Amino acid sequence: SSEVDAARAAASQADSDAPTLFDKIVAKQIPATIIYEDEQALAFRDINPQAPVHFLVIPKDRNGLTRLSKMDESHRALVGHLMYVAQLVAKQEGLLPGFRVVINDGPEGCQSVYHLHLHIMGGRQLTWPPG
Ligand code: 5GP
Repeated sequence: SSEVDAARAAASQADSDAPTLFDKIVAKQIPATIIYEDEQALAFRDINPQAPVHFLVIPKDRNGLTRLSKMDESHRALVGHLMYVAQLVAKQEGLLPGFRVVINDGPEGCQSVYHLHLHIMGGRQLTWPPG
């Protein structure tokens, strides 16, 4: 809805090294429905789901990765691990018929939280192309 879009725009940040609310979710200072956790990664349900199953996978330590395009060689193993966690938790969530993994990068990519995160969506027939 336009209301949700407006709220999203208002909440969206510019790319900066400032902490985001995802740091507070990692620190368990604000509640989230956490569905997977290990030393490096956290998965939790998106507060505004776009599909019956919609969760986010984030690195606990952002490590400079405000967005995917900040990636350098030092992040390769971490980003690979996030992809591993994405498919692991997708299966845990019963998404055997398929799912979608999305990373929004920057303003034109509609990124609103500047702490790298993978969106995993499924549980219904998805369509292509996305908006
Ligand atoms: P982006 O637009 O940056 O790709 O995605 C940010 C996502 O974080 C959005 O899908 C939004 O719904 C979700 N989100 C924003 N704030 C919170 C929150 O406080 N808790 C949870 N669980 N998700 C959030």
